Amino acid sequence: MPSLPGRRTVAKYLVGGAALTVFAACTAPAKPMPSKTGGPVPGSSPGPAAGGEMPTAAGPPADGAPLAAATDGGAVAGPAAPAPPASQAEPWAPPASGPVPSRGSPVHALKTKYSLSDPNSPWVVVNKHLPLNPLSYEPPDLVRPALPPGSGGEAALLRAEVAAAASRMFVAAAAAGAPMTLLSSYRSYDMQAALYGGYAAQTGGADADTKSARAGYSEHQTGLALDIGDANGLCNLNPCFATAPAAAWAGANCHLFGFTVRYQLGHDGVTGFYAEPWHLRYLGVEMAADIVAKGFGSLEEFLGIEPAAAYL
Ligand SMILES: [Zn+2]
Repeated sequence: MPSLPGRRTVAKYLVGGAALTVFAACTAPAKPMPSKTGGPVPGSSPGPAAGGEMPTAAGPPADGAPLAAATDGGAVAGPAAPAPPASQAEPWAPPASGPVPSRGSPVHALKTKYSLSDPNSPWVVVNKHLPLNPLSYEPPDLVRPALPPGSGGEAALLRAEVAAAASRMFVAAAAAGAPMTLLSSYRSYDMQAALYGGYAAQTGGADADTKSARAGYSEHQTGLALDIGDANGLCNLNPCFATAPAAAWAGANCHLFGFTVRYQLGHDGVTGFYAEPWHLRYLGVEMAADIVAKGFGSLEEFLGIEPAAAYL
């Protein structure tokens, strides 16, 4: 096994009778993230073992101030949004006629309050078809979230509004008996490039694409995404994390704090990544709650933009 630090095997699938090992899109960086506000946060602390029912959050927090207003003229004229799919498992399908919608032309939700392409927008869409523009984007307001006791992790930076929302979420999760740890958050272009380059040098670009996002294509570069862990850490960044208390609580409640579970089971053909119940993406309460209310399993499906299973 290559010795690149941070590499985590997250799933082994049987494809056509052959075992396929899949790695996380959220592969943790090799070293603690550089911080503009301080040094690394101490490692995770002990916590309860996995299992048990997850109580719900005490109540939704106040939504934070918007990060950026829409600037790309993505408004779409037309009728109200169509009915949501019957379930999260329903496959995405393009419109019966007309062009496949692209970024800036959401058809399901007609969400145009904020830009879908401005990297400063809380609604920016980043996937294998939609890199950040510019590729080397750096968030303007990274801060280290003030996490409650027992919810530590590596040095972590998030955009200010996201850090505040994450702090509230971590407090609520801990109070509900599902304390979280913060495994990874902001990742710079250079960090992502080094991570991806390490994989590519070992096994080639095609294989690297199954393990790590290319630089400029990672939500972690936006400062809007974070990977959570469970307090006991046994399943962190592995498929069994889906059964951990922190994952169960986040899946049921993270939208109340403005987050969505970005890569959900069965939606890899749309998002480009296998299920990652630890990867939370901040969108703000309005959109995050709407996604849940309408039963969508991915941001792409909710916005009605084209699937991005692979790089173009
Ligand atoms: Zn991630």
